[in-house]
Amino acid sequence: MMRVKAVLFDLDETLTDAPTGLEAAHRAVAGRLHQHLVERGVEVDEAPIRSKLKVLDDRMNMETKYNRDAWWPVLLEEIGTEQKISHSLIEELTQLYWATFAEVSRPYADAEPTLSYLGGKGYKLGLVTDMDGKLRMKRKRIERIEFIKLFDVIVVGGEDTPRTKPSPEPFLLAASKLGLSTSDCVFIGDKPFTDIKGAKTTGMRTILVKRRDWGVEEHPDLTIKSLSELRGVL
Ligand SMILES: [Mg+2]
Repeated sequence: MMRVKAVLFDLDETLTDAPTGLEAAHRAVAGRLHQHLVERGVEVDEAPIRSKLKVLDDRMNMETKYNRDAWWPVLLEEIGTEQKISHSLIEELTQLYWATFAEVSRPYADAEPTLSYLGGKGYKLGLVTDMDGKLRMKRKRIERIEFIKLFDVIVVGGEDTPRTKPSPEPFLLAASKLGLSTSDCVFIGDKPFTDIKGAKTTGMRTILVKRRDWGVEEHPDLTIKSLSELRGVL
């Protein structure tokens, strides 16, 4: 059992099913970009655009480069076309990506029950998530989620603090807003290189929800496979 007063969570891929949302977002963006290129006489298939975008998404996440606007010219380069991309198409693709993601990425079935259980046991609950690279985009996504009302504090790194995770800033802000010291908090997230690394440097306890293997070790206090396992720990 962990002796803590607050349980802080990451959002995407921890509480919500990001992979399904990402797959749909990649499909939508690749489809639109393919249509754009075909209209300009470029001979290219849609499937390789989609698979290149999937690889690019992982790379940009590991480099914590979240602004999708900056991704699309890189993607075009990787497709191997000389085509330039207009500012309006960049905007359109980014909007399409996030609208599709928000629509399809649903909370995991055990997210709300686990949050309710922990709240019922008297833990303070917090959400520490990072901005989407564009101002207010993440807040708009958060507001659509039903269980958001269960949190005592919500911090959007990169907006509420100068820097995103793994900087200690978002974690420290959440603890101070709750009036607690970091040793009273446990942080639960899916990414070793942002969630676990950042929370650990502040002195929080850490639990990794292992949704996939990122190929990076950060040695959390505990590793679990699903949120419902928290009932046995907290
Ligand atoms: Mg995450």
